[in-house]
Amino acid sequence: MQHILDAIVSGEASSEDFANLEIPDHFRAATVHKDEVDMFEGIPSKEKDPRKSLHVEDVALPELGPGEALVAVMASAINYNTVWTSIFEPVSTFGFLERYGRESELAKRHDLPYHIVGSDLSGVVLKVGAGVTKWKPGDRVVAHCLSVELESPDGHNDTMLDTSQRIWGFETNFGGLAEVAMVKANQLMPKPEHLTWEEAASPGLVNCTAYRQLVSKNGGAMKQGDNVLIWGASGGLGGFATQYALNGGATPICVVSNEEKAKIVRSMGAELVINRSEENWKFWNEEGTQQNPKEWQRLGKRIRELTGGEDIDIVFEHPGRETFGASVYVTRKGGTITTCASTTGYMHEYDNRYLWMNLKRIISSHFANYRESWEANRLIAKGKIHPTLSRTYTLDEVGQASLDVHHNLHQGKVGVLALAPQEGLGVLDEEMRNQHVDAINRFRGI
Ligand code: NAP
Repeated sequence: MQHILDAIVSGEASSEDFANLEIPDHFRAATVHKDEVDMFEGIPSKEKDPRKSLHVEDVALPELGPGEALVAVMASAINYNTVWTSIFEPVSTFGFLERYGRESELAKRHDLPYHIVGSDLSGVVLKVGAGVTKWKPGDRVVAHCLSVELESPDGHNDTMLDTSQRIWGFETNFGGLAEVAMVKANQLMPKPEHLTWEEAASPGLVNCTAYRQLVSKNGGAMKQGDNVLIWGASGGLGGFATQYALNGGATPICVVSNEEKAKIVRSMGAELVINRSEENWKFWNEEGTQQNPKEWQRLGKRIRELTGGEDIDIVFEHPGRETFGASVYVTRKGGTITTCASTTGYMHEYDNRYLWMNLKRIISSHFANYRESWEANRLIAKGKIHPTLSRTYTLDEVGQASLDVHHNLHQGKVGVLALAPQEGLGVLDEEMRNQHVDAINRFRGI
């Protein structure tokens, strides 16, 4: 891989030079193994250790199909889906790969005894498959993680509705936590050139998700003046939701769990911040069987104290079972709860009287369509939305990086270097970087 890295770092290799580079038939990648999916059986979730299940090993280069691209990955990032894959919850991802493999002759390539994980990347195109004209070897790119076939009409207005919609690196193989990744060419987007490789790789999945969930008309359709309650406001999704709320003239009400995180969201410009550890809400009883509406009311009262008596227009939901009843309660009449996840449990319970009598709406959201992904990346490239990278690990440390996210020990996003030998490389637009350097570094070293 050294010759590929040399070509990238030199900055002098032409597209033709890249096209002529020999691509090794093996590369290093972070994988989970099919014969280990039962390794954590009987162990509580929090004790399942990604350092045991994630391997960094040599894997074979996949055969490139039509419409696809092989990318030399300079950097990637940890997403919560890497945690889910590595603890085999709520299901093993090998089921996804088997189902995909049954779809076509070409898709069979994904059904392997190992799963190369990772749904973000920044890097350089090495090779494109038949029919690809927009991208060529040498292009500096990031990739979004929406993989679709688009053969059915269902996804023609909104590519997320395609019947074959998959999250690359989670429901497909050949993900981004590797030296080489394989994507569909229409996942590729230009790398924002004021960012390093690891900064550019880190927004992808969560930025696009937050954009659809909060901004897009397919999600919350947030408008100026909206009060937006953001759970985990300095986390992966929340760090972007907070930026979108502030950029769009809304008022974020940021919930975080400690003062460090409160400091981060304040430094982003959020004024209304709630430390949930201090408030110590007990939405559920000890056994987790019964909710206490008085605690929902206590949250509602706190929100009104902060907003000067106003309620929430949009709740940015993802913790799930733990918070959902409270989220439905505190939303104003006619307001919206947008949900894209259930980190604390997917069997939600809420009092439906508060929903229907007050004409509230629950909107489901999942990743982002092609266009939304492009818009979300465009905002990064224009310096209107910034990466939230706090720490970067090497590929060999991918297990530890995932454990940190699993245990909520991180801030914002956690990056992973793949081919990049060190942090700080890859910036072409220094002038623009200098304009935004404080915002880019906001989450660093905290
Ligand atoms: P993350 O970086 O871990 O951030 C989640 C934040 O939620 C944490 O930082 C934490 O913030 C907060 N939180 C955790 N437990 C909580 C609780 N019991 N009550 C209130 N807040 C709690 O993860 P993420 O990347 O934002 O992802 C969050 C979830 O969304 C995951 O389940 C992930 O799989 C899912 N997701 C779904 C999509 C999709 O397309 N459907 C896309 C991205 C992510 P504090 O400790 O500061 O409160």
